[in-house]
Amino acid sequence: MLAKTAAVVIGSFPLGESDRLVTFYSRDFGKIRGVAKSARRMRSRFGSALELCTLGELVFFDSGRSELVRVDHFDITRPFDRVRENLEKLAQAAWMIECVARLTAERDRHAALFGLLVRGLRAFDGPRPPTRVAIAFGVRCVEALGHRPRLDACIACGRAYPFPRPALGDGGVLCEACARPGGDALAISPATIGAFERLRSVSWDEALAMPLGRAEAELPALLEAQVARLIGHPTRSTKFQREVQRLL
Ligand SMILES: [Zn+2]
Repeated sequence: MLAKTAAVVIGSFPLGESDRLVTFYSRDFGKIRGVAKSARRMRSRFGSALELCTLGELVFFDSGRSELVRVDHFDITRPFDRVRENLEKLAQAAWMIECVARLTAERDRHAALFGLLVRGLRAFDGPRPPTRVAIAFGVRCVEALGHRPRLDACIACGRAYPFPRPALGDGGVLCEACARPGGDALAISPATIGAFERLRSVSWDEALAMPLGRAEAELPALLEAQVARLIGHPTRSTKFQREVQRLL
C-alpha cells in the first residue's frame, strides 16, 4: 500500500552504511517508523528533509509484512530550522517531541495531537519564551491523550481541593495528611494548580500570552512528573534541558 500524509520527523537515526531509520508523527496514521534508503549519501533525494522537527508531506510504502515502512519521499512543508538553531528552543521542542513519541502507540491516529504538535513547533518562530510554548503544549497534550492530572481532589483520600499546602502525588494532587511527611511528594503552589486549570480552558493564543506569575516556574515540573509517571521514567529531554541551562 502506498500512502501519503502530512508528518513531522520525531526521531532520526543512522542505520547501516547509508540509510536512516526515521520516526514520524503523521496526521493520518499517527506514529510511523520507516527506513529511508540512502538518506545519508551526498546528494540524497532526501537532502536535509529528515531532520528532527521538520514538517513535510510523507509518501511511504507499507508492505503489511513489517512494522517498518519504506520512506519513498518526504517533501518539506516547513523546516522549523529556527528550532534547531537555538539550544533553548531545541531543548523544549525535544521534550514536546518526546511526549508525542512516548505517549502514543504506533499507527494510532490522533489528528488533534498532530495539529497541536505543529502549532507548538510553529510557536517557536513567535515572540514567546520557549518554556511557555512547552507549557501550553504539555497541558493540552496530556489533556488530549486522557492523561490530565487530577487537581480537583486529593488522589489518595478524595478530599476536595482547595486545601492548604497541596503536594504533587502520583497522577494528581495530594492533601497535607496524605502527602507522607518527609516523603518525596513535590510541594505545589495553589497558584500553579489554578494556572493549569486556566491554561486548559483558554485558547492557544491566550495560553501563550497569559501572565502566569510564579506558576511559570512550577508548571514544567508538574507536567514532567505526569509524563514521567506515564512512561515509567524521567524524560531524556529534561536532562538535556538541564545541560542547556548550565551553558546559558
Ligand atoms: Zn488526602
